[in-house]
Amino acid sequence: MELSRFDLAEISAPRRLGQMLHQKLGAIDGAVPIVEIARALDIAEVQLDLFDGFEGMLLTDTRRSTGAILANTRHGNRRARFTVAHELGHFLLERHMLSDDGGFRCLPVDLREYGLAKQHQRQEAEANTFAGEVLAPVARVKPFCSEDPDIRIAQELRDQLDISLEATLRRIIDLSPHALAAVWSVKGRIRYSIKSKAFPYITCNKGTAVPQTTTAFRVITAGKRGATRMDETHPLAWTGRPDIALREQTRVGKDGHAITLLWADLPDEDDDYDGELPELGTPGFR
Ligand SMILES: [Zn+2]
Repeated sequence: MELSRFDLAEISAPRRLGQMLHQKLGAIDGAVPIVEIARALDIAEVQLDLFDGFEGMLLTDTRRSTGAILANTRHGNRRARFTVAHELGHFLLERHMLSDDGGFRCLPVDLREYGLAKQHQRQEAEANTFAGEVLAPVARVKPFCSEDPDIRIAQELRDQLDISLEATLRRIIDLSPHALAAVWSVKGRIRYSIKSKAFPYITCNKGTAVPQTTTAFRVITAGKRGATRMDETHPLAWTGRPDIALREQTRVGKDGHAITLLWADLPDEDDDYDGELPELGTPGFR
């Protein structure tokens, strides 16, 4: 694999960095070979293994003269692949400040960070944005966005790219022309949600119960695994707005875990609606 860090130097925007990397790589079939890519970009060693106390680690110095990546396989190889890409992001984004003398030590919460408030959050968000761009390049995700939104289609893409369903849905929500959101829950309690810029505010906060009037509540309570169809639902419970058309689909997984995909059809004059909160799903690189 012919890649040079020189070609990627001085790009500080994580999206552009990922896109430039793919420009250099050319078209890729199947899963993006992230370990090979890391090695080609001067990461001397990549270790995927069971570790305690962190999700990913990058051993390096401020000048990035050396690099080694450790990725925890505790949550599966797909998560570990994302972790490798995330640590590679810290390595290539040279403005990122080391978390200690030896490099970066990233916790599970960092791998889900998309906030921008503090410098640490911003760095983690940038590493995640880079990882998404690299593992799920625009050219591979876009064709899946032209179909009607459906978790089962996202699962196909997930299998092709060998990444988690969460990472896949983040990219689809990001690149889809539709107003989409996804809500993760366990045993009927909301864990977190992400949404596209155009999607209205989601009323359900972390830790609250999945609203009883939703299809999600019905299928989660029934406990039957698998995905429902994408069907019309009452918008009020999810968005607090009665004036939009909303569809929802839920996939019930194991141990009470579920994902609900929401698809809003907004009234034309919605540009003027001022109740919308800032985008949560993607950091501010637009
Ligand atoms: Zn990190």
